[in-house]
Amino acid sequence: MKSILIIGAGVIGLSIAYELSKIKKFKIIVIEKSNSFGSGNSLKNSQVIHSGVYYKKNSLKNNLCLKGKKLIYEFCKKYKIKYSKTGKLFLACSKKEESYLKILKKNALKNGVKDVRIINQKELNQMEPFLKGNKALLSPSAGIFDVKAFVKKLFQISKRNKVNFYFKVDNLNIRKINSKFQINLKKKELFDYVINCAGMDAIEIARRNFTNYKFPKNKYVKGVYFKTRENLKLKKIVYRAMVPGDTKERIDITPLLDGGYILGPSVEKKHFNNKKKLKYKFINGIKNHLKSINEKKIFYFKEGIRPKIMFNKINSNEDFYIKKIKDNNWINLFGIESPGLTSALSIAKYVKRMI
Ligand SMILES: Cc1cc2nc3c(=O)[nH]c(=O)nc-3n(C[C@H](O)[C@H](O)[C@H](O)COP(=O)(O)OP(=O)(O)OC[C@H]3O[C@@H](n4cnc5c(N)ncnc54)[C@H](O)[C@@H]3O)c2cc1C
Repeated sequence: MKSILIIGAGVIGLSIAYELSKIKKFKIIVIEKSNSFGSGNSLKNSQVIHSGVYYKKNSLKNNLCLKGKKLIYEFCKKYKIKYSKTGKLFLACSKKEESYLKILKKNALKNGVKDVRIINQKELNQMEPFLKGNKALLSPSAGIFDVKAFVKKLFQISKRNKVNFYFKVDNLNIRKINSKFQINLKKKELFDYVINCAGMDAIEIARRNFTNYKFPKNKYVKGVYFKTRENLKLKKIVYRAMVPGDTKERIDITPLLDGGYILGPSVEKKHFNNKKKLKYKFINGIKNHLKSINEKKIFYFKEGIRPKIMFNKINSNEDFYIKKIKDNNWINLFGIESPGLTSALSIAKYVKRMI
C-alpha cells in the first residue's frame, strides 16, 4: 500500500484527503500546524461558488473552476450542506462599463460558461429593484455555500475513510531516503508521496526541502471584508463590470446564507490600522449603485490573504501552480487563490491523476 503525506488541512488538503481516501488504496496522513482544520484562508473568503466568467481560457483556474463548481453543487446536495445558486450580476453603471459586458460575455462563452446573458435596464430593475445600473451580465450558475460545513464534512469523511490527522505539527524535518520521504511523527514514518498544500507557507516548505530548485516567490495581497446586517434586498451577488485579467480593486456585494451581506474583499498592499478610513472606501465603492444603504450598519468583518505568486519582479503568475518536482514524488500547490475554494474538489481529482 502506497503512503501519502499531505501538508496542510485547508480546504485543498482536506479535498485531496477526501478524494484519495475514497479509493482505499493509500495510507494517508495529513499534518496541520494549527490545532484545527480550515484555520488558514479557507474560511476567510467570500464563500462564492464562482461560475468561471473571467479567467484566462485553458488556464487551470478556468478548467478547474468549471469542473469544481459542478462538483461543489453535487457535494452540497448529497451531504445537505447549505447553499444557494443565487447567480451573479456584473453591473455596468456607465457607457464604458457597458462595453466591458460584451468582453466579459465573450470571455465566458469562450471559457465554456454558456448560460451568461446581458440584461437591459428594464430587466435589471425587475430582477433587482434596489440596484442602480444601466445593464448587467447575468451569470446564473454562481452561488454561495456554507464553507464551514463543507470543510467539516470533508474532514469527517476522510477520518471515516481512515485518514490520520496530526495537528500542531510544524517545522518538520523531512528527509529524503532513496525515493521516499521520512518524517518523525509519533514514530518515524516513510512516505511514497508528499503533497504540499500548505497555503501561504507552501513555497517556504518546498524551498527548505529542495534547496537547489527554483520556485516562484510569494506576493501576498491582503483582502479585507466589511459586513452589513441591513437587508439590502439584493438576491444576487453583485460585482462591477470589469475587463477579464484587469485586477483593479472592486467592492463586491455577496449575500450571506444567514442574512446580511459581506462587502469586499478590498486590496490592501500595506498594513492598515485605520478601520474608519477603510470603511469609507467600502461605502464609496458601493453607494453609487445601491438605491440606499445605512452606513451605520456597516462594520469590519474579517480579512484573508491572497497567496499570489510571481516568477519575476514584473509579472505575477495569475494561474494556479500545481506541479510535481522532477524525479520526485512531491507535488507542490502554490498560488491557490480565488477560485481555489470553488475548484477544491476538481483540484483534488487533478492531483489524484498526478499520482
Ligand atoms: C480574500 C479572499 C477571498 C476569496 N474568495 C473566494 C471565493 O469567494 N471563492 C473561491 O472559490 N475562492 C475564494 N478565495 C480563495 C480560497 O479561499 C483559497 O483558494 C483556499 O482557501 C485555499 O485553500 P488552501 O487549503 O490552499 O489554503 P489554506 O486554507 O490557507 O490552508 C493551508 C493550511 O496549511 C497549514 N500549514 C501552513 N504551514 C504548515 C506547515 N508547515 N505544516 C503543516 N500545516 C501547515 C495552514 O495552517 C492551513 O491550515 C478567496 C481568498 C481570499 C484570500
